[in-house]
Amino acid sequence: MASVQIYDTVLRDGTQREGISLSVVDKLHIAQKLDELGIHFIEGGWPGSNPKDAEFFERARHLPLANSALVAFGSTRKPKTKAATDVNLQALANAGVKVITLVAKSSELQVTRVLETTLDENLSMIADSITYLKARGLSVFLDAEHFFDGFESNSAYALHVLEMAAQAGADCLILCDTRGGALPGEVMAAIEAARKVTTVPLGIHAHNDSELAVANTLAAVRAGVSQVQGTINGYGERCGNANLCSVIPALKLKMGIDCITDAQLTKLTEVSHYISEEANLAPDPFLPYVGTSAFSHKAGYHVAALSKWIDSYQHIDPAQVGNKKRVVVSELSGRRNILQKAEELNIASSLTAEKTQKLLERVKLLERHGFQYESAEASFELLVHRAKSDYKPLFELVDFLVVVERRRRPSTRKNLEEMLSEAMVKVRVGTEIIHTVSEGSGPVNALDQALRKALLQFYPGLAQVKLVDYKVRILEGNVGTESRVRVLIESSDGINVWQTVGSSNDIIEASWLALADSMEYWLLKQNS
Ligand SMILES: [Zn+2]
Repeated sequence: MASVQIYDTVLRDGTQREGISLSVVDKLHIAQKLDELGIHFIEGGWPGSNPKDAEFFERARHLPLANSALVAFGSTRKPKTKAATDVNLQALANAGVKVITLVAKSSELQVTRVLETTLDENLSMIADSITYLKARGLSVFLDAEHFFDGFESNSAYALHVLEMAAQAGADCLILCDTRGGALPGEVMAAIEAARKVTTVPLGIHAHNDSELAVANTLAAVRAGVSQVQGTINGYGERCGNANLCSVIPALKLKMGIDCITDAQLTKLTEVSHYISEEANLAPDPFLPYVGTSAFSHKAGYHVAALSKWIDSYQHIDPAQVGNKKRVVVSELSGRRNILQKAEELNIASSLTAEKTQKLLERVKLLERHGFQYESAEASFELLVHRAKSDYKPLFELVDFLVVVERRRRPSTRKNLEEMLSEAMVKVRVGTEIIHTVSEGSGPVNALDQALRKALLQFYPGLAQVKLVDYKVRILEGNVGTESRVRVLIESSDGINVWQTVGSSNDIIEASWLALADSMEYWLLKQNS
C-alpha cells in the first residue's frame, strides 16, 4: 500500500484565519491532540518572528509526543545577507526541533515584484539557507510558495527552484497553491513536470480560495506527492487550507493510501470538535465526515430506506471516523424517524404502534405551531416520555405572572429610567403547590429565577443547571409584533449540554415552555 505523510499547520497557517487567536497553552493542547491522531508533522509556528511562538517551542520540548515530530517554520535568509548571520535562521536552528520548513519564492513575478531582488539572488538565498540548516543536522522541507502560479508564468524558473533546493539537500519539496486558484488538472500537470526534474519527495500545500483545496490535494497524491499539508477543520488564511478532516478519510477509505491507523481515524470527529473548542469557534455541523449533520437523515423515505439498507444514503460507515448516524425529527418525518429516534434514546420498547402513531401526529401538530425538534432533542425526548402512560413529570407548571415596568429611579437627580421585571410562578410538585416570586434583569430571567426558587426546595441539584444560550426566532408567515416566536434554549450542568424549545404568540410563554422543558429534562436524567 502506498503511504503519505500528514503535515498539520493549524498552529501556524490555521491561526491566520480571521477570528482565531490561540494562547501558548491552547497550542500545546492542540499539539498533544494532533499527536494522538497520529499526524506525522506538526508545524508549531515561527520561532524567529514572534515571542509567543518562541515560548511555544521552548515549552513544547517537554511535550510527550508519541507519533508526531514538531516542525519550526521560517523564511530563507534575506537578499544580500549571509545565512550564518540571519537571526531568523538562527532562531530556527535553536528551536529544539529536528525538522524545519523554509518558505521560499518559486514564482518569477513574486521574486521580482514582491521580494524585489534578482532571480539568481533568490536561488542563492534558497541554497544558502538550506545548506546552513543541513550543516546543523536538521531535516529541511522547502515550501515552494506560489509554485503553481509560477509554473504557469515561467515553468523553467519554478522547476529550477526545485532543482536548486534538491541540490542543497532539501528533504522534501512542497508545492504550494498559495493563492488557492489552481484547478486539479493544472496541479497534476505541474507535479508531473516536477517529478521529471527531481527525485526528492514532493508535497502539496493547497489553499481553499476556489473551494478546491481538498480536490487539489487528492489530485496531487494521485500525481505522486508523498506529503500532504493542511489543517484540521480547514482553518487558515482567507478561505482556509486543505481540510485534513476530509483529506485523511479520503486517502484511507477511498484511495487505499496508508497515513494514520484505523484506530486513530476513529478519533477524527473528536479531534475536530476539540480543536474548534480550543479555537473558540462553534463546530461546523455541516463539515463532511466530522460534522454532526454529516450522517443525519431527515426525509422519511431516506430513513425508511436506511432501515432496509444502511448504506443507501451514506458514503462511508460513520463509525470509521468516529461519527454517528442521526435521525432528525421534523415535519418531514415518518413513523420510522420517530421509532429510530426512540431507539437511539433507548425508550423504543415502551411505545406501542398506537402510541407511536399518536406521537407522530402530536409532533406534526406541534411543528405546525412553531415547535421544531431538530435542534431541541431534549424537548423531543420529553415528548416521547410523555407519550408513555406511566410517565409522571417531577413537577408541573400551574401558572405564572410577569410584570415588566419602566420607572424613574427616585434616588438620582438625573432622569434615569430603569427596567424592572418581576415574576410570580405556581408549580405543583407531587401534591404540593409552591408559589414563588422573583425579580430579574428581564422577564425571562425573572421567570427562570422564580421557577428555580420553587424547584430548588425539592431538587437542590438544579443549582448546577445554567442557561448557556437563548435564541429567539420570529417565524415566517406572520406580521410584525403579532408574529409567532420560537425560543431555543441551551442549558448545561457543567458536563452535559442539552437543547429545548418553546413556541407561542407570546415570547414570554415560549421562553417559559423551553425553560420548564430544560429543567424537567435534567431532573428526568438524574432520576432515571
Ligand atoms: Zn499556506
